[in-house]
Amino acid sequence: MAIRNIRYDTDEVLRKRSREIEEIDNKIRELALDMVDTMYKYDGVGLAAPQVGILKRIIVIDPGTGPRVLINPVITKKSGSQTGEEGCLSSPNVFGNVDRPKNVTVEYFDMDGKKQTLKAEDLEAVILCHEIDHLDGVLFLDKAYDVYKLSDEEIEAAKREAEELERKEQEKTKKKNKNCKRK
Ligand SMILES: [Zn+2]
Repeated sequence: MAIRNIRYDTDEVLRKRSREIEEIDNKIRELALDMVDTMYKYDGVGLAAPQVGILKRIIVIDPGTGPRVLINPVITKKSGSQTGEEGCLSSPNVFGNVDRPKNVTVEYFDMDGKKQTLKAEDLEAVILCHEIDHLDGVLFLDKAYDVYKLSDEEIEAAKREAEELERKEQEKTKKKNKNCKRK
């Protein structure tokens, strides 16, 4: 397994349409695992193959429930709407609001070549739409409004703040656990 190089939004590869995968062989499985590693390395919640320079229809996501690999994903149903802030590993430090469906159904093949259906809502639906757009050469910035960019320092400060919050939460949980033991 390896971390792959991320392509940035001026890279032409991100504007091309990816090809369907005809055979799920070891090379595809290796790509999928590398993409999962790369997504986690850069704190992403999703990654599409063109973002690592490969024009194949494969995405990986983790909305907080663990990694999932989707091969040849197709949105077969959409309903409702939601608006939320998005970012992209290919556009570091840039954020903007995007309108997306609230619910989507996606059909795809898993790593064993089995056809699967995923019904997703909220954040998971957003991630799926964002990543599947990448397979058609579409970037979230094409659809985003109220776009803004943070400096590296601002990103670092936000990260530290989030870590501090998490630390406090963990301390609270620890205290709670101690209280439980006393009883
Ligand atoms: Zn993206």
